[in-house]
Amino acid sequence: MNEKSTLKPDEIRKIIWGLSLRRAKLQNKLFTPHQMIEGCIHKIYKKCGNPKCYCVTGKKHGPYWAISKKTGGKTKITYISDTGTVKKAFAYKKYNKDLATLRKINEKIYYWLRILRDKNTVSYEK
Ligand SMILES: [Zn+2]
Repeated sequence: MNEKSTLKPDEIRKIIWGLSLRRAKLQNKLFTPHQMIEGCIHKIYKKCGNPKCYCVTGKKHGPYWAISKKTGGKTKITYISDTGTVKKAFAYKKYNKDLATLRKINEKIYYWLRILRDKNTVSYEK
């Protein structure tokens, strides 16, 4: 039994309704994904190796964009040269973030539905 909530069933239904609207909106967005590129996008600054370059003591070169991807225990980094690819990599990141948000909303709905169940449940004894 979950005794945590002191809210009335109508208030709980209102919360669930609100969460459902958020979920529907997010789901609708996830229905039509853009072209994406798998991996984790990184902004990289680095030293060039020239001992006379300003980057030895000062500001590093960059930013450069790169995608890191784990394959067989190793992380492979691939530099990106065009903005279209950067956008596709960011689309992938955003999609995964939205999926995580969707899961959290679902968990909340599940949580509140269980409270509703428990508010209407007694144990049967003779
Ligand atoms: Zn340099």
